[in-house]
Amino acid sequence: MTLSSPTTRLLQVRSVYAEPEALASPRGQQVLSRFPDAEIVEVPSHWQIPELHGNAGKVDRWVRVKTETLVLGVKKSLSARPNGRSSDFIAPSTSNGCAMACAYCYVPRRKGYANPITVFTNIDKITKYLRGHVSRQGVKPEPDQVDPHAWVYDIGENSDCSVDALVSDNVADLVATFRELPTAKASFATKFVNRDLLGYDPQGRTRVRFSLMPDDDAKLLDIRTSSISERIAAIDDFVEAGYEVHLNLSPVVLREGWERDWADLLQRLDGELGAPFKEQAACEIIMLTHNQDLHEVNLGWHPKAEDVLWRPELQQAKRSQTGMWNVRYRNNHKREGVQRLQDLIAANTPWLRVRYAF
Ligand code: SF4
Repeated sequence: MTLSSPTTRLLQVRSVYAEPEALASPRGQQVLSRFPDAEIVEVPSHWQIPELHGNAGKVDRWVRVKTETLVLGVKKSLSARPNGRSSDFIAPSTSNGCAMACAYCYVPRRKGYANPITVFTNIDKITKYLRGHVSRQGVKPEPDQVDPHAWVYDIGENSDCSVDALVSDNVADLVATFRELPTAKASFATKFVNRDLLGYDPQGRTRVRFSLMPDDDAKLLDIRTSSISERIAAIDDFVEAGYEVHLNLSPVVLREGWERDWADLLQRLDGELGAPFKEQAACEIIMLTHNQDLHEVNLGWHPKAEDVLWRPELQQAKRSQTGMWNVRYRNNHKREGVQRLQDLIAANTPWLRVRYAF
């Protein structure tokens, strides 16, 4: 494979940390063939790599670790968790971690903050598990907000599939798996445009949710992602290539001028996007959630982001099951924000159905 420029921008892999079984597998070997100059470091478990997964102390090296490191592991326990918001089920991960570095992202919290991409190499077991799970569900008995007919599986909860596809064929294999499953669909949200995906022939069985927010927010918060213009420019092409394309309006950040900027974004979508997209479009709205530990880490490398993300006068804290303090907009601000954005959608993009707002 010739490395395309998006790969080079995000990934210049110098080290691959690998569990022995993952390294020996065909998928592990495929990843290595894409980064032939990388040094291989064998590790007993993808969960225990202290030099990568330490967190706050590595702030200055955070992005470098994401760029220069990959991890290969084997996904041990396979299960599909019920969801009910963006999907009916969360599929077992085929990767976790991310080479991008959005300031609000919760993905790094699971393995410390310098969290490069871990690829799970036992993709055949994962797709076999998924086929069995889909078959056990039978036909969806009634429409819900997720989808009128199909059981929808989120395949990208812990990573960004468009970037994962630069590293291995796991995403191609998932798209191919769902192509053959008439009662189910794959789905993932993304902030990256990988045009290789246009050749995957999903035949309507994969839903891509392009994440959008006003340009000013994205420039400040969506570090290393594709620009909002690139994402918008990809939408019609993905529809034409056979994807269902929805929008993930997230995170909605309440700040001075947010309503005006969201209205501008929606008007732009109305003006620039084609009828085939609009006819099948839907969106989800997700208001910002943040986290005290992440706030403190961000102060060390990107304090400007915290000017808009950390707004104690608008936010309330709640301790999570893992003992962290998560922060979200107070109920009244959240309710008003959601309502205002829904009003803006009704006024500017009446073709855009809101699947859910949270
Ligand atoms: S692209 Fe997604 S997974 Fe990656 S850092 Fe941004 S929010 Fe997190």
